[in-house]
Amino acid sequence: MKAALVGADGGLLHQARRPTGRERGPDAVVADILDFAAELHAHGISRYGTPAAAAGVAVPGIIDEAEGVAVYAANLGWRDIPLRALLTERLGGIPVALGHDVRTGGLAEGRIGAGHGADRFLFVALGTGIAGAIGIDGRVEAGAHGFAGEIGHIVVRPGGAPCPCGQRGCLERSASASAVSEAWAAACGDPGADAADCAKAVESGDVRARQVWQEAVDALADGVVTALTLLDPRVLIIGGGLAEAGETLFTPLREAVRRRITFQKEPSLVPAALGDTAGCLGAGLLARDLIDDDSTHLSYSSHPSEVTT
Ligand SMILES: [Zn+2]
Repeated sequence: MKAALVGADGGLLHQARRPTGRERGPDAVVADILDFAAELHAHGISRYGTPAAAAGVAVPGIIDEAEGVAVYAANLGWRDIPLRALLTERLGGIPVALGHDVRTGGLAEGRIGAGHGADRFLFVALGTGIAGAIGIDGRVEAGAHGFAGEIGHIVVRPGGAPCPCGQRGCLERSASASAVSEAWAAACGDPGADAADCAKAVESGDVRARQVWQEAVDALADGVVTALTLLDPRVLIIGGGLAEAGETLFTPLREAVRRRITFQKEPSLVPAALGDTAGCLGAGLLARDLIDDDSTHLSYSSHPSEVTT
């Protein structure tokens, strides 16, 4: 879990992190989130002499943002946790916003990170899985049921590898950091080899690595072009572990996207800029959106992201 106090100017004043400890079960994790928030709230009061004006919390899984309920998270094991109400009570009644982890990180990237306030952006995180955030006029679209932006489950290889979601050939089975790690480990014969090793081998000219890499890039371009066709974003921001390969990913990805588009406009395709502070900064923005712009208050944000992506 990562948490921060965010100042009126949006900067991080104080950061803290602690293990999520999901092996202790969902009730213990929820109790820790409440304790962590309360401790940070108390720290803000003692350090700055003024309480946080609002709080933002981003969690993984299915989120009902309107109701403030964490509906389900496979890897935390919780169901229907009324997190917003619990936090509001624990933090003395300040306004609390609840968000989805990837959409919240995407909000920060789009508004203050790599997207620099772009009016339309798409954020795609290439990690253990692949998730996305659709940015429209300074906010992120959650969808009618909290599922918008799930680009990782666009089918790009019909009949391909089975996905935990129940389909076959989903984008994340071809182009997530995990999928590339798996493919490279099989190709090079070292079960410990991962996507970062594959990127290094690509850079040193290894033919097998280039083939594994290009297959992932082609699948990613197929998924991205589907998204571009539907959403027409101005900026496409790519984050997550695989994006750390830098131009080893971005140069061939731009080329693969260019080869596929016909009438669609090519967006500016850029790496995420905020690293692992995106979740906290985004939760701070959710909190900030609850209060007046001219306030000098602090806000609190928390982001148990390490358990998800
Ligand atoms: Zn899937």
